[in-house]
Amino acid sequence: MALPTTTAAAVLTEHSAALTLRELPLPDEIEPGAALVRVTCTTLCGTDVHLWSGQMTFPGMLPMVLGHEMVGEVVAAGDGTTDTFGRDVRPGDRIGWSESTCGKCHGCAILREPVACASRGYGFLQRADEFPYATGGLVQYCYVTPGAAKLLLPAEVKDTWAAMSGCAGKTVLRAFARSGGVRPGATVVVQGAGALGVFATAVARISGAGTVITVGGPDDRLKVAEQFGATATIPVDSRPHDRIIQVRDLTDGRGADHVFDFAGGPTVGEEAVAFAAQRGTIAVVGSTGPQPSPVPLGTVMGKELTVVGSLNGDIADYHRSVEFFGTFGTRMPWDELFGEPVGLSGASARVESMSRFGELKAVIDPRLP
Ligand SMILES: [Zn+2]
Ligand SMILES: [Zn+2]
Repeated sequence: MALPTTTAAAVLTEHSAALTLRELPLPDEIEPGAALVRVTCTTLCGTDVHLWSGQMTFPGMLPMVLGHEMVGEVVAAGDGTTDTFGRDVRPGDRIGWSESTCGKCHGCAILREPVACASRGYGFLQRADEFPYATGGLVQYCYVTPGAAKLLLPAEVKDTWAAMSGCAGKTVLRAFARSGGVRPGATVVVQGAGALGVFATAVARISGAGTVITVGGPDDRLKVAEQFGATATIPVDSRPHDRIIQVRDLTDGRGADHVFDFAGGPTVGEEAVAFAAQRGTIAVVGSTGPQPSPVPLGTVMGKELTVVGSLNGDIADYHRSVEFFGTFGTRMPWDELFGEPVGLSGASARVESMSRFGELKAVIDPRLP
């Protein structure tokens, strides 16, 4: 069968403007270790919305293809292409993947942390008009580069779940690991009620937390957090002092054993420290900048807090997220996280809807018209 030489793509050419439907070239040959994938599902992430709006921007990044949470069916694989366990990747296989890494830099070779790779390749850091063109999720056919760690997907994990594992899922599970794990009965505060915050709420509950307090908004998002295991919610538009009192009241006056920042914002650091119990742990995940968020170090010392940063995730976190969905597929109403699937031509409207706190996670199926 002849391979496609171009792919339909929804391309971001200007911030806050409609995506442009365009044909992008595909590489002439599939390099050893690479794969060409027919995308079956892309889920959008808050970062896509920030890139679209221009809230997050890099010089010379446009034109680019949004989307870094996707799965699909392999249509062609290069010589020796395997997944992260060394299993052959062949046409017809269903795969997901993580960002590409170089394997040779200090982060890769010495720290052995793929998230610390000096040339970590995100789909969204690659221009759509330069080789290998179609690496983002809003394409019909995606080129998965040799350096991207791949994973053959188990049948019981739905496309949406596996796609979401590509960023939101792995980011949350890494943050829990960085926090040292949640003890049965522990108290947890989740700052943020977007897709990450809601998923973290569910993970906290499934991990055995006794009290899970989700701080965020708008109100309908807090309702969703309750469906996903929040034992209490606090609106983020309440007075900061009231939020601190509420967390204290809900935790027998002690504060939370774990605070997870999935929100960011100028007051998040100060509040996280106030929410935390003596010897508590704070995982900073949502503070992507650029605005500073002061942290009262005197309280960090006085409470003997542990503050850890957690940066996205790697193929191990991705694998854990896929396994998590496989294990806990019936435990929460996961599908409530996702919007109705639309084709590439509907992607613009979905990104815009997410920017207005419409749906939590838009789903694009590029096979749809
Ligand atoms: Zn590297
Ligand atoms: Zn993301």
